[in-house]
Amino acid sequence: MTKSIEQFLEENGGILRDTHVVFTSGKHATEYFNIRKVAHIADWWKVIGQRLSSMSASIGRPDIIIGAVTLGQTLVDYVAPNIPGVFSTWCNVKDHVASFPPNLEFEPLFKNRTVGIYDDLITSGGSIAAVRDLVVEHGGIVVSASAIVRRDQTVTEIEGIPKIFWLEDIKSRGHVFTPEKCLADGPCSRNQPMIGRPGHGHEFKLKNLDYPMVEGTLTAEDLLTIAEATDRAIEA
Ligand SMILES: [Zn+2]
Repeated sequence: MTKSIEQFLEENGGILRDTHVVFTSGKHATEYFNIRKVAHIADWWKVIGQRLSSMSASIGRPDIIIGAVTLGQTLVDYVAPNIPGVFSTWCNVKDHVASFPPNLEFEPLFKNRTVGIYDDLITSGGSIAAVRDLVVEHGGIVVSASAIVRRDQTVTEIEGIPKIFWLEDIKSRGHVFTPEKCLADGPCSRNQPMIGRPGHGHEFKLKNLDYPMVEGTLTAEDLLTIAEATDRAIEA
């Protein structure tokens, strides 16, 4: 791979810059990583899978690799073929809590087995930590965590995980604001149209019905909910 990961993501719409988005935390930002945009480029994922598995090979083969839905799961599918005998599985993460899908009974897999965790991004390390807690709860031994990109260069370790690996550091070129600060100095102060999805702009819009949105970033369902809220606001 001659291109950097950053270049590849930029060229394929995986990084939105000079934009206006709302994070899960409720903060507003001018930069957003949307690796889902490249989820279909299988040749790229194959190379990423090979690079990540050779990088973590130094610490030995884990018994199990696990990735959180959505892109962590995609990633383990491309890592697993490079690690003979490894078992790959997945879990959900919602609101910083990881859980196994109901009725699939993945839980008994983990007792006394070594586990590598995979995710697309290391931002705060929060979602990897959530997966760690789930694995440990079911008796697994977490030996490593791996990601494609590290977003926050201050994250050098994640508690309870002996080794963390990532392929590329991509420094933020954007700004993050609290909603109040965004209104004072950020894109909100300039009425810069907001992305409805990805991110949580659709929820912001529900509470700020007059705020302009980037066209085509709300779903039909969002538009309906917003229209209903607008009707209620007019009646009241
Ligand atoms: Zn804003």
